[in-house]
Amino acid sequence: MSGKPTVPAPRAASAPYGPCVLLKHGEVFLKGHNRHRFVERLHDNLRVALRGVGGSTWIKSAQNVTVLGGQVPQEALVERARRVIGFNSVEPAIRVPSTLEEINRAAVEALRAVSADRPGRGFAVRVKRRDKQFPLTSSRMAAQVGARVLEEVTGLHVDLTRPDVLLTIEIDRKETYLSWTRHPGVTGLPVGSSGRALVLLSGGYDSPVAAHRAMRRGLACEFVHFSGAPYTNPSSVYKAYALARELNRYQPPGRLHVIALGKAQKQLAVVGAGRLQVVAQRRLMVRTASALAARTGAQALVTGDSLGQVASQTLANLVAVDEASDLPILRPLIGWEKQEIIDEARSLGTADISILPDEDCCQLLAPPRASTRAGLPHLRAVEKRLDLDEVTEALLDHIQVMLPGEEDGTVPAAPASCTAPAPV
Ligand code: ATP
Ligand code: MG
Repeated sequence: MSGKPTVPAPRAASAPYGPCVLLKHGEVFLKGHNRHRFVERLHDNLRVALRGVGGSTWIKSAQNVTVLGGQVPQEALVERARRVIGFNSVEPAIRVPSTLEEINRAAVEALRAVSADRPGRGFAVRVKRRDKQFPLTSSRMAAQVGARVLEEVTGLHVDLTRPDVLLTIEIDRKETYLSWTRHPGVTGLPVGSSGRALVLLSGGYDSPVAAHRAMRRGLACEFVHFSGAPYTNPSSVYKAYALARELNRYQPPGRLHVIALGKAQKQLAVVGAGRLQVVAQRRLMVRTASALAARTGAQALVTGDSLGQVASQTLANLVAVDEASDLPILRPLIGWEKQEIIDEARSLGTADISILPDEDCCQLLAPPRASTRAGLPHLRAVEKRLDLDEVTEALLDHIQVMLPGEEDGTVPAAPASCTAPAPV
């Protein structure tokens, strides 16, 4: 994955008055003396998300807020910003000079449009003064603007307890921002601020949600998918590609590494893994993923495991898998229920991909009754019958790398044929 984005920083000094977008900082706001580094990262990620938006853009920093604008429709900016991890809210706004007259005028115009759209609504005005030099206190300013709106706009009434429309006015020294719509942002830490991880991405619901959770804790993610090739068709690879592309909309794009595990799975079966087949395969996956991470600079693996969800995810089996990895395995969904995971996958946009049928490598050669308590001595005994270093090397030698979501991302090759699993 590329490190720092190479997008030139837009110039904010000449930011014009007019429509813009306010991005309220999430957890970054809690950071102490190194907060500026988190904010820089957040802005880098925002610039990457704005690539190809169709016009020039600018970014400006205020206290715990980023202001975004440009020669691009406001909705397009909102759309891009809503996917950048680290903002609590994304608010379309108007930027005006900090004078009473300009603020009043903008407030009247804004609420006139709101009223024309749907008359009969209750409104309230809330003022925040970041500049305490401003001549009126916040509450007096709110009352004054409210009175002016009532005078000039028909079809609205004041409702201070449960307003349908809350006009927020944020006054800085030179400029003031007015907003009345608030979209929730993807909260969390800026992607990349916690380091880099390699996500084991299957075609199911769980691993994409786990990846997103990892990103939300500041991890820049690359992905590795194990297919059952040459014994399965490439449907699982297509799914992994589509999932990684969807996930890459939330971060500066991370690569997808595809590894054909089929032959190695067969080798495990041939040496008699039996009921340990699934855990032995999972150990091989994390062993290989650790070796890959060493090459790509990832500091941890991430999986979609949830304790007890299936036989391979009992505590004993998770411990057995951990032992095969050189890197810590992070499991963001360990305490999640399946329904919670599916609900989150739906809101992320990955559920529609995960639900598609595929030929998954884990089903290949799965024993009728998988062991729920794979003992380490047994696993090691099975693995000893193979040269694991050689197996891992061979897997890494034939790795396929793609960059889903980038124009130059290679698309997986079309299937030559769909080979059925060979009998062992
Ligand atoms: P998911 O858990 O994503 O729904 P699944 O049910 O097919 O997919 P599990 O058997 O629950 O997968 O596997 C647990 C975890 O192991 C996955 O969440 C994923 O991180 C990893 N994993 C499983 N199969 C693969 C694979 N083919 N390629 C990469 N990682 C995988
Ligand atoms: Mg699962």
